Amino acid sequence: MPTPDVIVVGAGQAGLAVARELSRTALSFSVLDAQDRPGAAWRHAWDSLRLFSPARWSSLPGFLMPGGEGEYPQRDEVIAYLAEYERRYGLPVERPVRVRAVTRDSEGFRLETSQRTYSTRFLVSATGTWEAPFIPDIPGREQFGGTQVHSAFYRRAEDLAGQRVLIVGGGNSGAQILAEVSRVADVTWATLTPPSFLPDDLDGRVLFGVATQRYRAQQAGAAFQAPSLGDIVMVAGVREARDRGVLRARELFTRMTGTGVVWPDGSEEAFDAVIWCTGFRPALDYLAPLGVLEPDGRVQVNGTRSVKEPHLWLVGYGNWTGFASATLIGVGRSAKATVAEIREEIREAAGQSTTLPPP
Ligand code: FAD
Repeated sequence: MPTPDVIVVGAGQAGLAVARELSRTALSFSVLDAQDRPGAAWRHAWDSLRLFSPARWSSLPGFLMPGGEGEYPQRDEVIAYLAEYERRYGLPVERPVRVRAVTRDSEGFRLETSQRTYSTRFLVSATGTWEAPFIPDIPGREQFGGTQVHSAFYRRAEDLAGQRVLIVGGGNSGAQILAEVSRVADVTWATLTPPSFLPDDLDGRVLFGVATQRYRAQQAGAAFQAPSLGDIVMVAGVREARDRGVLRARELFTRMTGTGVVWPDGSEEAFDAVIWCTGFRPALDYLAPLGVLEPDGRVQVNGTRSVKEPHLWLVGYGNWTGFASATLIGVGRSAKATVAEIREEIREAAGQSTTLPPP
């Protein structure tokens, strides 16, 4: 098998944006994805999930997501869009291929995968966060005899009908899941800090706008104080939950027991199920053999490029790999910058090799 210039690991929105950018160059490349079908993390989202931003504001470079100004696409529409994006640009995605470990050799990288060993000169990691759900280390958690599920595995409210459900986490997942579970179950919402809500007339577009302002300020070397707008987008279901009076959070419990939790005032409360809406970490374990993982599970980067391993780039994980890079509309900017750097690296390497004296 010829060694491609670049392998992209992950065919979610980040990997596809990089692949589309690579397809506009003369570089050879492959995309390896662990899923057996297109759609990446969106395939595992809960049934009712809708985007925060209208379709027009949720598109990857080159191809607008179908839907108008006021339409907030559903999970299945995003999956269909990503599948069409792959098809439209003929992106060379191989699946299912899970990369288990990456090591360095004199030519570049060796990727041990569920299928075979791959080699490449340059590596782009776009494995997202959905495969690394995070649950805080709360005392007594392993004793709890009820159901525990992370939002990554939550599917639909009906599965919890009639139960006493504790929802933990003050972000968008917590608010959206609370909104629908509270229609069929008795729900309590616990958050580390009081949740903050965006005004009703603002959606994910405003968060992207702020990220863009911050990015421009940084490029210009100027200071930028982000306005405090709130974190939770008031999508229709969350507004409706507020109007029902259930969108009320209380402080986090101090520990768990066999049947429930203990609140800071010492009182105990029983629950049948706990839903952890406590976020994700980057899914980067497969890079461990390269020695680039920091104690927090991230990789130290300059832009999207690894500082310790300069032929490795990371795209799409969050603001630490580019402002708004974990969104459909924001990741294009990181993808473009990444491919420009890879091209520059190859150009420089080629320039050096022609100016070197023959051996
Ligand atoms: P993923 O979509 O996770 O894709 C990574 C791919 O890599 C997957 O297919 C995975 O299986 C594969 N992979 C992982 N490890 C390996 C490996 N070792 N080998 C091979 N393949 C591997 N974003 C928006 O733009 N708009 C929204 O409205 C929005 N709403 C959201 C609401 C919620 C509740 C949440 C949790 C997220 C939301 N997001 C939204 C963010 C969005 O879902 C994620 O940020 C996005 O899926 C990340 O894309 P990605 O390509 O980086 O990763």
